[in-house]
Amino acid sequence: MGNMGQKEYYRGNPGSLTGAKLCGAKVRELLDGKFEMIPKTKEHISVDKDKCVGEACSICYSLCPGGAFEIVDGKAAWAFGMTNCMECGICQYVCPVAAIDWAYPEAGTGVILKWS
Ligand code: SF4
Ligand code: SF4
Repeated sequence: MGNMGQKEYYRGNPGSLTGAKLCGAKVRELLDGKFEMIPKTKEHISVDKDKCVGEACSICYSLCPGGAFEIVDGKAAWAFGMTNCMECGICQYVCPVAAIDWAYPEAGTGVILKWS
């Protein structure tokens, strides 16, 4: 999975949370080529659209190291389904309104790190 999320990093309002966006982009750069993604069988994270304040927040979008989120119709949404999620867990902790319900993907699917 090469060059993950680099293009997507530049979507949205470039004026908000610039430092956080740079952090997410740097993590993607550092992890490029260091993991494999086994296709996931279900969406293991969900966003409660009623709670999500979307564009006014955009923290998950800015911080996600996988570039997994985008803002659609003013709410957080998946840019590529779960394909780009790297299972770091950050989004569930940074969401200020607890709109993200988080779980690992099914066993045998998802991220396999290759640190050697
Ligand atoms: S768990 Fe990490 S990689 Fe996955 S969507 Fe949340 S912030 Fe992005
Ligand atoms: S961090 Fe939470 S409130 Fe903010 S955009 Fe993401 S899901 Fe919505």
